[in-house]
Amino acid sequence: MRALSGLLVAGSIALAASTAAAGSPGRDANAASPEAKASFAAFIEALRPDAEARGVSGHTFAAAFAGISGPDSDILGRTRKQGEFGRPVWDYLVGAVSAGRIARGQAQAARLSATLSSIEARYGVPRWIVLAFWGVESDFGASGGSVPTIRALATLAEARFRGTLFRDELLAALTILERGDITPERMKGSWAGAMGQVQFLPSSFLAHAVDFDGDGHRDIWGSNADALASIAAYLRNLGWNPALPWGYEVILPAGFDLARYRGELPEFAERGVRRSDGKALPDAGTASLFLPGGSGGPVFLITDNFDVIRAYNTSDSYALAVGHLADRLAGAPALAAPWPTQAARLDKAGVQALQAGLSVRGLYAGEADGRAGPKLREAVRSYQIAQGIPADGYATPALLQRLKSSP
Ligand code: CA
Repeated sequence: MRALSGLLVAGSIALAASTAAAGSPGRDANAASPEAKASFAAFIEALRPDAEARGVSGHTFAAAFAGISGPDSDILGRTRKQGEFGRPVWDYLVGAVSAGRIARGQAQAARLSATLSSIEARYGVPRWIVLAFWGVESDFGASGGSVPTIRALATLAEARFRGTLFRDELLAALTILERGDITPERMKGSWAGAMGQVQFLPSSFLAHAVDFDGDGHRDIWGSNADALASIAAYLRNLGWNPALPWGYEVILPAGFDLARYRGELPEFAERGVRRSDGKALPDAGTASLFLPGGSGGPVFLITDNFDVIRAYNTSDSYALAVGHLADRLAGAPALAAPWPTQAARLDKAGVQALQAGLSVRGLYAGEADGRAGPKLREAVRSYQIAQGIPADGYATPALLQRLKSSP
């Protein structure tokens, strides 16, 4: 699981001064200053007792850190960069659900058809969802990352980026090496420690990765079967409901009351909500309306499975990309409604101001972090309902203006 997009892009996070100043630009650990190397070595040595307590042998420990003499200053630099938050959902979808990716995914679906059938039978997660995750995470295994995981995690852990999170992940990574699933040389991934074709952090690997091809190793780097089954196992473990879709694009009837945005799928059908592809809504299951671009854009009915996808990477855009890519791989058409690409949007500071204003009114209990997620959506809906305006849950400059100017 990544679930890190929200963590890693918060460019405001301060690193310890000693590590922030360490080393010169570039990927070469050996470019680090003698002080940085000494500090790094001391950090690794201090890790040893905790690793031993987890059953990591001296041999595994030594092999894991062989040739790593200092932090990766390139990774430290990345922690200070601003990420993609605030990027419009439609921009994200263009990149994540491209024609090329759909074609590559369909070719993989044909190539791996038998394996995918077995995975569906065992885990109850549709092949298209599994393939879509695989596509978004690593472009079907083509871009799982080439950064050595142990060094990446050690760099982030020593810098105390996100507190002790990466120290815990580093210990989990050592446990994986001890179990022999992968060698240190092949344990690679992103700069933030997300590994292989599925971009699992080590703790998620330990909890969810499976050996599906039966060779005795959970190999999310080299085995397509293991990678795909690990995705399915992860989703099933987090509560994927085989009886439900992730959601649908829908068309609302004129005058639809957005204040009643959650209910049973048959109720939505009775209220005149139609799938945009013309097919019938299922006759059971609970869903909520989701308007990621507001009333002027595509409208979706999403189920609890959407939240399961979202748990993998806590971003609405990500979850929508996976769901929509899955549909496209299965042959569904592009979204029917256009996105409001020209409409004014709130920037991060604007979202923070809105969160603060809603918080003062007792409608928002989360952090004023500038992230537009489900909590903010709920708060905006409550405010819109109180104001008697259409409750699409979408944060806009006009809504912030209204909030500022109303008592
Ligand atoms: Ca295997």
